[in-house]
Amino acid sequence: MTGDAARPAAPTDRLRELPSVDRVLGTAAAAAALAVHGHPRTAAAVRAALHGARESVRTGGALPGPDAVATLAAARLADEARSTLRPVFNLTGTVLHTNLGRALLAEAAIEAAVEAMRHAVSLEFDLATGKRGERDDHLRALLCELTGAEDATVVNNNAAAVLLVLNSLGQGRRSIVSRGELIEIGGAFRLPDIMARAGTVLDEVGTTNRTHLKDYGAALAPETGLILKVHTSNYRISGFTAAVAARDLAPLAREHRVPLVHDLGSGTLADLAGIGLAHEPTVREAVADGAGLVTFSGDKLLGGPQAGFIVGRRDLLAAINRNPMKRALRVDKIRLAALTATLRLYRDPARLAERLPTLRLLARRPDDIEAQARRLEPAVAAACGGAVTVEVRPCSSEIGSGALPLETLPSAALALRPLAGGGGGALASLAAALRRLAVPVIGRIGDGALLLDLRCLEDEAGFLGVLGALDPGAGDAMA
Ligand SMILES: *Cc1c(COP(=O)(O)O)cnc(C)c1O
Repeated sequence: MTGDAARPAAPTDRLRELPSVDRVLGTAAAAAALAVHGHPRTAAAVRAALHGARESVRTGGALPGPDAVATLAAARLADEARSTLRPVFNLTGTVLHTNLGRALLAEAAIEAAVEAMRHAVSLEFDLATGKRGERDDHLRALLCELTGAEDATVVNNNAAAVLLVLNSLGQGRRSIVSRGELIEIGGAFRLPDIMARAGTVLDEVGTTNRTHLKDYGAALAPETGLILKVHTSNYRISGFTAAVAARDLAPLAREHRVPLVHDLGSGTLADLAGIGLAHEPTVREAVADGAGLVTFSGDKLLGGPQAGFIVGRRDLLAAINRNPMKRALRVDKIRLAALTATLRLYRDPARLAERLPTLRLLARRPDDIEAQARRLEPAVAAACGGAVTVEVRPCSSEIGSGALPLETLPSAALALRPLAGGGGGALASLAAALRRLAVPVIGRIGDGALLLDLRCLEDEAGFLGVLGALDPGAGDAMA
């Protein structure tokens, strides 16, 4: 529709020429949106788009036709329909990034989880007898085989495992911990607070930097419920230090008939020296060192879904299974399926690093990552346009989630640097532009550049595919 060509209509007159809601809903673009989003939401989006158009026309903007309004409404609907929990490219260099969901699951675990989601399963049902079975039966034998423990169970995460153990063995009693091991793990998980919630009285022994066996001995009392040894997985105290190894605490605990609990944190079932990392105590070693119970995470170095394992003595696990709190912390069939499939991979150590994404990414060689960086550099530079320089740089990846905190892995990054000054502001805008991609790309800022550490980039084609839409000049106006 064109107005009088000789004399432009006043903005308010042109408002009458805006298409009606029905007219917009009759367009092809609206038909596609109607099929996906239904009538009420599509009509509301069209009304909102028309409202925006009215404002724009009033201030002298162009008069949109029905197709343009429908396209705008469809874009808004697609945006709203998108989940907030989205896949991203983790190029932060932290392999087990807690804020990005930690471990990626093995294909076998993904398949098992999908099967469990789609079907009824023998979750608590004994197929041999037709009677009621136990949820833990699916994992117990496998966990015992892999750790050398007598018995085992699994709960929501390792924080839950620690809480449940402290409550089961320490409620109304005292729990001994070294002052050097009173840790805080990201968020609100502080050991003294968890102890209070578990109903046990904290008996701190030793000092921040030095704790000796005699400190534990002096604290032992008739009211002692347990001795807790915590693997200080997210920091190291160095210098003039002393700590008592679980192996040396075990005889004291045994002599006084007090359970020794060892919270390994990450814990691992495989010897990481095999993929060139420093030795991290394995769960089998912790069990052999004489702990009555050992707790560890499912989604840290183990490479499975979120979970917390408790393995150890049968009598202690019986006490845990009697605790009504356990019911509130249990895992569902989906995770149980994924966990079982993940643990089964550990039966074949030779192929573990190839099948388990966490170990596969940790094991990547720096020259392989550097070659990938050189391969991708031209395409990334082209996507960034002339305003950003791109160069290949050596960098250090981290394991993350507190595992082996001092260990860094040599890696390679694409370092992106905006040419125009602006310093931190320009870098932040570039990072925001990467986060706006169809699959957001998350890097890290360091040494005056935005670093894309390629250690965790396996889907190169997918990465290049989304990068085409990068608009580094757009700033973070939309962020
Ligand atoms: C990570 C960690 C926990 C908590 O484990 P989640 O599985 O994250 O709940 C507990 N203790 C230690 C020592 C840890 O490193």
